[in-house]
Amino acid sequence: MRMVDIILKKRDGNALSKEEIDFFVSNYTKGNIPDYQVSALLMAIYFRSMNEEETFYLTEAMLNSGDILDLSSIEGVKVDKHSTGGVGDKVSLIVGPIVASCGLKLAKMSGRGLGHTGGTLDKLESIPGMKVKLSERAFIKQVNQIGMAIISQSENLDPADKKLYALRDVTGTVDSYPLIASSIMSKKLASGADTILLDVKYGNGAFMKTIDEACELARIMVKIGDYFNKDTRAEITSMEEPLGKAIGNILEVKEAVETLKGNGPSDLVELCLSSCATIFEQAKLVSTHKAGIELAKRQIENLEAYEEFKRFVKAQGGDIDYIEDLEKFPVARYQKDLLSTKKGYVTALDALKVGTAAMKLGAGREKYDDKIDYTAGIYLNKKVGDKVEVGEPICTIFTEKPGYDEIAIELMDAYKIGDKRPSKHPMVERLIK
Ligand code: URA
Repeated sequence: MRMVDIILKKRDGNALSKEEIDFFVSNYTKGNIPDYQVSALLMAIYFRSMNEEETFYLTEAMLNSGDILDLSSIEGVKVDKHSTGGVGDKVSLIVGPIVASCGLKLAKMSGRGLGHTGGTLDKLESIPGMKVKLSERAFIKQVNQIGMAIISQSENLDPADKKLYALRDVTGTVDSYPLIASSIMSKKLASGADTILLDVKYGNGAFMKTIDEACELARIMVKIGDYFNKDTRAEITSMEEPLGKAIGNILEVKEAVETLKGNGPSDLVELCLSSCATIFEQAKLVSTHKAGIELAKRQIENLEAYEEFKRFVKAQGGDIDYIEDLEKFPVARYQKDLLSTKKGYVTALDALKVGTAAMKLGAGREKYDDKIDYTAGIYLNKKVGDKVEVGEPICTIFTEKPGYDEIAIELMDAYKIGDKRPSKHPMVERLIK
């Protein structure tokens, strides 16, 4: 088989066979095919796309390119969730303890943040002592003992995706449905859970800009899950405005803890309850979504989920004194309230602008090796639909950097204030299964 023939076949709009896809993925992973040929193929896939079978074969080849986690020694139903990423998304820190407190097992591998989006691992590492690198044995033992663990992806999980993603990033071939779907699903399938819940976000702060694009991506990923006999469902949620009120690592951990204690912001609570309910349905713990919501609410009210979160933090080396007394967390040197210059209702709050501002304040990375300031971030006192008066603080900046005036202007620009209160949408706009 010759790589050039595979490129020509895709360039001319023909479907690749399983053998051809296996050939290019395994040989590229081993270093036997140069980047320039794979770049050409990726560009051909970008323009010609892939049919369902090709997408399944690509996912399978990537998933088989490295280690596949064997979670069979974990008792009970192993559940997993994945968000396509956004601003203020601390859902895993809340949903994990809720579902684990009900006896389900969450063995989750997560990522770091880049650009305007945050990453669960960075949030966890803002808790003093917390470790996110665990051996496979320690990971499985912890999930068996306390019901959950969230760690960084192991080195040899899906090496094909690591190479392909890096190449896509510099060849303008990220935005392709089959390439995104196979990239996400190969990693999720290699992580070994029985059920997968995907949160596919759309809006200006997300990968997918429109709800139709998010639905299309979600449908492909759910079909991949079906092909591998995994119960896979996808919730479609908006990332037009950030999730919750806290953006930035320590601020988000604090908000997650408050949410577990029953004091969360309404949008975050609504999404977490709904995600838990879907996971409970997937695990056949409940027979209706409504019963799932009630169960999740109960685990917050009786503080079982909060206690589970503390067990999880302790098991991964985190200091739970900080969780029990959130005031112990360090705070940024500079804190500045931004005051509204208008009266009315917040009609829009641009998630991309807020996420970018948070990154510039130190909460995120512009490049992979940038260092994060865990105390940096933004607290959104006002969100879409809230009433605001002239001179009222609409948000607060937290940073160690003194020269934040320009960032403050960009952040003010993220807010749109008008005369009419905008209508609200449910957090989970559609569920695809
Ligand atoms: N996230 C991934 O893991 N892969 C993609 O291709 C896009 C987003």
